[in-house]
Amino acid sequence: MIPFNKPAVIGDEVDYVNELINNREKFSGDGLFTKKCSALIEDLYDVKKVLLTTSCTHALEMAAILLDIKEGDEVIMPSYTFVSTANAFVLRGAKIVFVDIRSDTMNIDETKIEQAITNKTKVIVPVHYAGVSCEMDTIMEIAEKYSLFVVEDAAQGVNSFYKEQALGTIGHLGCYSFHETKNYNCGEGGALLINEARFIERAEIIREKGTNRSKFFRGHVDKYGWVDIGSSYLPSEFNAAFLYGQLRNVTLINDDRLSSWNLYYESLKPLADNKVLELPTVSEFCGHNAHMFYIKVKNLEERSNLIEHLKTKEIGAVFHYIPLHSSEAGKKYGTFIGTDLATTVESERLLRLPLYYDITKEEVLNIVKEIKAYYSVENRGDQIERNYSSRR
Ligand SMILES: *Cc1c(COP(=O)(O)O)cnc(C)c1O
Repeated sequence: MIPFNKPAVIGDEVDYVNELINNREKFSGDGLFTKKCSALIEDLYDVKKVLLTTSCTHALEMAAILLDIKEGDEVIMPSYTFVSTANAFVLRGAKIVFVDIRSDTMNIDETKIEQAITNKTKVIVPVHYAGVSCEMDTIMEIAEKYSLFVVEDAAQGVNSFYKEQALGTIGHLGCYSFHETKNYNCGEGGALLINEARFIERAEIIREKGTNRSKFFRGHVDKYGWVDIGSSYLPSEFNAAFLYGQLRNVTLINDDRLSSWNLYYESLKPLADNKVLELPTVSEFCGHNAHMFYIKVKNLEERSNLIEHLKTKEIGAVFHYIPLHSSEAGKKYGTFIGTDLATTVESERLLRLPLYYDITKEEVLNIVKEIKAYYSVENRGDQIERNYSSRR
């Protein structure tokens, strides 16, 4: 069986977790390993301030609190995204305004954003799908023109770049995920990237249950208390220690994923050249992290058939998001502005193939072989089907 995902394990993680246990000083959050991870990310990607969180979902929730999102505010995002992108703002009472995506990158169509802006709009949330960057220059220009905030959902974009700038560091705030399905993981985890100094102090308070505890531990205040709203968004040191083992190996993991991604691309190119399927598009200004390898097939039916075929060959290929605007909660909390030209049709055609750290060359080539087999047999199948029906 080739599963869709295997969480990355490098081997060093256990050393750091052991170190934590042997030190026996601080197991709760904001200890040595939390600080090491934050410092490493700040250094690698040139970030003003990184706060580790319990998940990307929680980093998004912190962003919504930090930006004072309240009842009636509007937040613009693509409909083709994970529920947390929307939920974080709905929890503060915001209305979600969905706009269409680009059919090439599956990212928010930056040319459709402006028409969705009203005097209630507060935030634009670009989602860097598959670790491929949105058109950030245009998005930042629009945000500046209308005085809006930009929160990058860079859950899939850790170690991806847009014109040399790391994803998550371009908007006012950025959100990373260290969930087991992402490139670098600790089971469940995330980070809030703060790109403007004015947000730092309050973000620390929000992460510490609304208390000024961080300031207290630094000796800046002589007692700590409840000063704002907040929650428990600080991960345990166990998660941070494990994560540190992964972040120290960012290049190793990235190179490995990228070579599998490139192998898929080159091996499937003949099918794309013959217009049998489509391959992913990486935008011109993006250095990507090989988070995902997807193909696009003819339609929903063909996708279901191909998934079934691969399943019989013990290959775990999976589809992805059902557009949020067509979901039960999406209808209640959001509206789609403009015409859904790409979101629904493109999402129905997209199929993700297994891609994880240390998937072997043989496994990738085997998956490619089965996709090719499906298309040659399918053609013969059509033939048989046609002969059969004409006999009837
Ligand atoms: C994975 C993901 C999230 C949520 O991340 P968690 O760390 O699991 O909360 C949010 N947005 C996008 C686009 C994601 O892919």
